[in-house]
This record gives sequence, C-alpha cells and structure tokens, in this order.
Amino acid sequence: MNEELRPTAEPIDKLIQELNKLPGIGPKSAQRLAYHLLRTAEEQAKLLAEAILSIKQKIRLCSVCFNVTDADPCSICRRDQRDRSKICIVEQPQDILALEHTRVYNGLYHVLHGAISPTEGVGTDDIRIKELLERLQGSSVDEVILATNTNLEGEQTAMYLNKLISPLGIRITRLARGLPFGTELEYADDVTLTRAIEGRQEF
Ligand SMILES: [Zn+2]
Repeated sequence: MNEELRPTAEPIDKLIQELNKLPGIGPKSAQRLAYHLLRTAEEQAKLLAEAILSIKQKIRLCSVCFNVTDADPCSICRRDQRDRSKICIVEQPQDILALEHTRVYNGLYHVLHGAISPTEGVGTDDIRIKELLERLQGSSVDEVILATNTNLEGEQTAMYLNKLISPLGIRITRLARGLPFGTELEYADDVTLTRAIEGRQEF
C-alpha cells in the first residue's frame, strides 16, 4: 500500500498480521486485539509475550505418552495413583484436557498427534503409532481405549489401530456412541464425554 495512504503505523500492522494468523482470529478481531494491546500496560504486554515464548522454549513431548509437558515424563505418566493397566489413545494433547476434565478416567494416555488421512497425506508413519506399539509390547496394559475423533479420519485410525493391537491380546474398547458422528473430542461437553467413557464398548 502507498506509504501516505496507510492508516496505521507499521508495528501495529505487523501485530495485526500476526494475530490474524491464529485460528479463529479474523481481520476484525486481530485489529481489536492489537489496539487492546496497544492500550495495555507495558508489563502486561511483556507477560503475554513471555508466556508465548516460554511455551516454545520449555514445552516438549513426554517420551512415554507424547503429551505436551515441561517435565519428562509428564505429570500424568509420573503419577503413582494412575491405573497403569489402561491406555486411552487420543489424537491431540487438547483431548487429554477434555477427558481429564470429566474426572472419570484414571488410566494413562497416548497422544497420536493426528489421525490417518489419505486425503491430507497423513499416513500411518506420520503419527505416533510405532511408539504406541513399542509401548504396548510386553507391558502390563490390559485395555486400550480408542478415543480418536468420531469423524472419518478418527474412525479410520481406530480401525487401523484395532487391527494392529488385536494380535497382542489386549482388550480394545471405543468410546460409546453417545458422541455424534463428526465430533472432535476437544469440543465435546463433559456430560457427553463422561457418558462416552463410562459406556465404552468392545471395538
Ligand atoms: Zn506422559
């Protein structure tokens, strides 16, 4: 844009551009946030900037379950009170948050970091399946709960995992049908999720 016609200063433009890249933040929201931050006390803005940098510097993946963590193994894997005979398989770390919020599940997790999707070029080697199988081999796990999303990719992934895990003689369950088709776990409400875990069925 022509220098004289540009209504905002370059640093503000830049912040708006960056905020606009975030999911769910359109150009209008990005603008509103940028001007809000402009009015914010410098200390507050610094805290936000530091929090953003800190997740990039301090957060890594748990070497056992691949949850995001600042200590390895993560707090769930470390906790003695967790039931180590169960592993709940989810697509994303946010799914653990949703499931933990219901407080009905006390086992361990495994984060795949995605779902198999031939259309998006995500193959079986692109998500943490190999690591899951290594983890299950010779473990004391007696139930694996397939908690992938109920959309096409999630169902495909669950079917593929079922095929791989069945020969190991481990009980395989899937979250109950209470979750409507197309549901992303992350956005399911507590009541629905609780019902889905408690009513889980043999795959
Ligand atoms: Zn972990």
